[in-house]
Amino acid sequence: MPSTPRVRFAPAPSGWLHVGSVRTALFNWLHARANDGVAIFRIEDTDASRATEESMDSMHDAMAWLGLDWDEGVRAGGAYGPYRQSERKELHRAVARRLEEAGVLYRDERTAEELEAWRNERRAADLAPIVKRSTTPGPAGDDRTATLRLQLPEEGTITVTDLVRGDVTWDWSHESDPVLVRSNGDVTYPLANSVDDIAQGVTLVCRGEDLLSVTPRQVFLYDLLTRDGLIDDALAEVGLPAREPDWTRPTEFAHLSMIVGMDRKKLSKRHGSVSIQEFARKGFLPETIVNYLALLGWGPEDGRERLDRDELVAAFGFDRVSRSAAAFDTDKLTAFNGERIRDLDEDELADRLVPYLDGTYPPSNPDTEDDAPDHEGGPVADWEPLVSSPPSAEERATLRGLVPLVQERMQRLDEVQRYAPAFFVDELTLEPASVQKVLGKAGAADVLRAAHRELQALDDWTAEAIEGALRPLADELGIGFGKVAQPVRVAVTGSQVSPPLFESIELMPRQRVLDRIEAAIPVAEDAGAG
Ligand code: GLU
Repeated sequence: MPSTPRVRFAPAPSGWLHVGSVRTALFNWLHARANDGVAIFRIEDTDASRATEESMDSMHDAMAWLGLDWDEGVRAGGAYGPYRQSERKELHRAVARRLEEAGVLYRDERTAEELEAWRNERRAADLAPIVKRSTTPGPAGDDRTATLRLQLPEEGTITVTDLVRGDVTWDWSHESDPVLVRSNGDVTYPLANSVDDIAQGVTLVCRGEDLLSVTPRQVFLYDLLTRDGLIDDALAEVGLPAREPDWTRPTEFAHLSMIVGMDRKKLSKRHGSVSIQEFARKGFLPETIVNYLALLGWGPEDGRERLDRDELVAAFGFDRVSRSAAAFDTDKLTAFNGERIRDLDEDELADRLVPYLDGTYPPSNPDTEDDAPDHEGGPVADWEPLVSSPPSAEERATLRGLVPLVQERMQRLDEVQRYAPAFFVDELTLEPASVQKVLGKAGAADVLRAAHRELQALDDWTAEAIEGALRPLADELGIGFGKVAQPVRVAVTGSQVSPPLFESIELMPRQRVLDRIEAAIPVAEDAGAG
């Protein structure tokens, strides 16, 4: 048994990372960190038609955003690379050749069409279309090209102990012999995946339960690869680093249940965000995501739900991973996020809000979001960043002043985009609904005139002084204070929903406030007349 656990997260880079894959990454990472192990991030890009550079980069960026650091991988480097599967082809070919020489592969000359016809015939005859050497026609005698299949046992069973699912047994007679080499000489993914696990000393395979079914053939292959030093000879042949003397093969498996929506259906856009970049854009903190994903199918013994990374590492173990599907609850995630936002230090929160103001994460357009491909809503068309990148000292001071006004009420960081314009733009656009509902009320223009007069005369520009100036207007005008506050709020912030009014006004330059109130007077008169 090797002393150091080695795990790998091995995504195929086609598209964005979705929550299911990120949870797989996280459980691998937690296992490595909890056991002084090594976390490997391998990119399985053998299917060149689907793999993209952009996707690979986005996966690495997502990991960096989540704060999951990898000991070995494409970005991290490491002694047992390359960590990009497509750069290991020579090794895969050398292994395939050795397997062929060892007599464990056999030729299947059928074309895809012939194979399909054969399957249909079997089904018609009520026979399972399982490809075995015994059911594969022998060489035709001409020089047809052939795929090379791995000859699995014809009968008997194999049992694999899964840390999540317990003992799982397969009947070999139900397992088709997998193609390891295509007719054009390319090796296939099942071979590459197993070879790399062995060559990189992986001890535990943790992945989604959709891959449980490939485990028997993979274990069979692991054994062939480690028998008689086959892999070691192949590594030496192609000049890749030798394995450590104590490396054997993966001995532990953990297949994670699916993640479903609250309706128990497969997770999709209907359930809100599913790609991890989307969570960033929507204002979730990476620590919320890490905490929440860890709870999808796992929980510490003491039932705590709020755990930071170190606490997760200390408590994590596959023995507490559930085999039933985990439900993704966006409302719960959002509430968790709000709690964590409230606990952030104010300076820290200010820093975290910058990407939502400087254009890094523009607001998403609710109109296009649902239809957009790959779960991405397009940004709002005419949205302009509210601060420069990096923010100027003045912008930073305003933002820092805004933080205590919004921290309590935010559940997502992107909500700052709703409150911030009033504090950062010169030309304020008043929300039409607020104009109608508030400025259109009788007396609103009088309130604004009186507020302008009082604020102009004020000596101190503090929240207390501003309150002291505005409160008495209720008595003076014979109305409730709400009828004073609301028109001023709409005039100054553009909306009837804003952070606390006096503090908001304090945070703005006095002239800007006076100009806004003045500009709103004719708007109120018009709205009232209409
Ligand atoms: N590359 C595979 C996938 O993205 C994962 C294979 C594995 O974990 O064994 O589905």
